[in-house]
Amino acid sequence: MCRLMSAKHDNVAYLHHGPKIITREEHNISRRNISDGALKVLYRLKNAGFAGYLVGGSVRDLLLGREPKDFDVVTDATPEQIRALFRNSRLIGRRFRLAHIRYGSEIIEVSTFRAPHHVANGEGHVIDGQIIRDNVYGDIDDDVWRRDFTVNALFYNIEDYTVVDYVDGLRDIKSGYIRLIGDPEQRFIEDPVRLLRAVRFAAKLGFKINHDAEKYIPELAPLLSGIAPARLFEEFLKMFLGGCALQTFERLRHYRLFGELFPQTEEALSRQQGGFPHTFIANALRNTDIRLAEDQPVTPGFLLAALLWSPMDKLAQGYIAKGQNEPEAIMLAGDVVISRQTRSTSMPHRLTRLARDIWQLQPRLTRRSNRRPHRLASHPRFRAAYDFLLLRAESGEDVADTADWWTKFQQDNPVERSHSKDREDSRRRRPGGRRSR
Ligand code: ATP
Ligand code: MG
Repeated sequence: MCRLMSAKHDNVAYLHHGPKIITREEHNISRRNISDGALKVLYRLKNAGFAGYLVGGSVRDLLLGREPKDFDVVTDATPEQIRALFRNSRLIGRRFRLAHIRYGSEIIEVSTFRAPHHVANGEGHVIDGQIIRDNVYGDIDDDVWRRDFTVNALFYNIEDYTVVDYVDGLRDIKSGYIRLIGDPEQRFIEDPVRLLRAVRFAAKLGFKINHDAEKYIPELAPLLSGIAPARLFEEFLKMFLGGCALQTFERLRHYRLFGELFPQTEEALSRQQGGFPHTFIANALRNTDIRLAEDQPVTPGFLLAALLWSPMDKLAQGYIAKGQNEPEAIMLAGDVVISRQTRSTSMPHRLTRLARDIWQLQPRLTRRSNRRPHRLASHPRFRAAYDFLLLRAESGEDVADTADWWTKFQQDNPVERSHSKDREDSRRRRPGGRRSR
């Protein structure tokens, strides 16, 4: 507990110097690279007499010359004042109350400056060092200290187009370091999801995590077991659908974080160091990154199927050895593996459904005496199951012949594929419709 009280103190050195103000001439952020929606929000706040800053990932990415994924705005207006100013806004959030302002398909997240929990005279809530509620308003020089990393704590001021830097974030952007603000151990304990965020940003930006922080990661990794599975699932999506899944995966393993998210997969990976499970997962993640880079759709259900394939397969083989038939063994093993996984990360039903369908189609694709290939090819999940089979073949499983056979079959029967797509589309239009396995 006492450690927590020292945070503001740790930052006194920073406060002493005040922020560095980086003028428009000294940085590369141009309004041309800021979305129309974000500019509208910033200007409307400013014209109503409020402060308006871009903050977080958007400022970091703009400074790095990258296209921001989204734009977050921070202001001294309260959520109610924001709500009154923007008719197209909606207040959301329990832990943090903030506003979503919508312009067409773009959503700008606007939050009110908040103080770190320990500044707020006991109003923030901390149990066992973790932040439980964190909704105390403050001003910009309170708000900066609650942010996780220096590179995420830069503010772009719409008033004069300067960048406000309290924490030497610009230095870390230039030298490529992910550095926690304040005492790293304490900031990780406060919110262990920061362990994952550090790795995600390092992988995405090609940065290093500074040594003072990285040394704590393996040791504190078990704290993730206290994080709600729903929040970890959200983080899983950000980590694995952000375009750098393979890099992130390797680093998560390096820091012993991966096993906290996917314990069964980690067990399979460490049982066979560098063997099939690793090649297979690495290939699946590489494909995902390539598909995202080419703007092709990806589904997290397919990734789950790949991540859990080895543990599922091992369990199914055990059932088969005890006399179960293969389809039943896969069904049972799928149930067990998925229900164990949901203790770590929750997973929406439609995703686990896809994973199960992909697994259950595997023996139907590989069976030699496949008497009804046309029917199988028109199965709504055929395409996903076939892609999965290719991945198994590429990764060294003994299914290359069958995979080739299906490739040729589709070349010879192009109609089947469009038929299958039709069925999939019509299924999407009828969400309540029965799905065949
Ligand atoms: P991305 O490019 O993934 O959107 P981001 O840095 O914008 O990266 P967000 O999750 O959108 O990340 O969060 C916005 C900002 O809010 C962060 O840059 C950081 O300043 C702050 N923040 C988010 N999550 C945390 C956290 N767990 N602890 C402290 N600060 C956080
Ligand atoms: Mg963001």
